[in-house]
Amino acid sequence: MNLIDSHCHLYSVSNVKDAILHARDAGVTKVVVVSENLQTMEQTLKLRDNFPEFVLPALGIHPVDVLYMSQDEWGKALSFLKIHANEASCIGEIGLDYKHATTEKEKEKQRKALRAQMEVAAENHLPVNLHSRRALRQTMEEAIAFHRETGLPALLHWFAHSWKLLRRTNQEDIFVSVGPSILFSEEALKLAFAIDPQLILVETDTPVAFKGKPSNPAWAAEVAEKLITNHPEKQLTKEKLFDNAQRYLKKP
Ligand SMILES: [Zn+2]
Repeated sequence: MNLIDSHCHLYSVSNVKDAILHARDAGVTKVVVVSENLQTMEQTLKLRDNFPEFVLPALGIHPVDVLYMSQDEWGKALSFLKIHANEASCIGEIGLDYKHATTEKEKEKQRKALRAQMEVAAENHLPVNLHSRRALRQTMEEAIAFHRETGLPALLHWFAHSWKLLRRTNQEDIFVSVGPSILFSEEALKLAFAIDPQLILVETDTPVAFKGKPSNPAWAAEVAEKLITNHPEKQLTKEKLFDNAQRYLKKP
């Protein structure tokens, strides 16, 4: 088996070596490690240096971090991103989070930060890895605009919340990743089947906890298994999930 965890904060697990061994045993051979700020971008690149076979580094500034950065901190993080983008497999975790951005001014700050980072992605011919919370439609529209303008892939992570929006992402050729929530919720599992089998990826968002247990990249295998065995049209296979991830990450 050969699976890719398409969204994972590997620097946040307590024992990285164990997590990697465990993941490999489960058939998860690579992880996209997404970053959130200057510190975690540095950590992500260090993990790539230490585990080059396993880590696909994603560099980016998370929308929640964007809110709490001074102008100076933002400038430093963005220039780090620009300098190191050529070492990244994709740009992320970027996006919009209107749970945290509640005023129009804060939302505008996030939108500007998202577009600035999408520009870096476009210049470096890199796909984007997107976060969306209480801003699903807005983030989706940004993803569609990015994909239409650049032809580069966009992935909405943990996005399966609405049939209507998934119909649109399918039409617009936007990737959507599904995580451990489908292991615990029938509703989440049903929604995952609305994603075009050509556009679905698996992820864990490690170390986010489910039922009190922190996730780890090995869980991507459980997510894949659950999707494959329950898929109503039996259209999914592990090979297909791997192939989708490769199309998402493919360099033009
Ligand atoms: Zn995340």
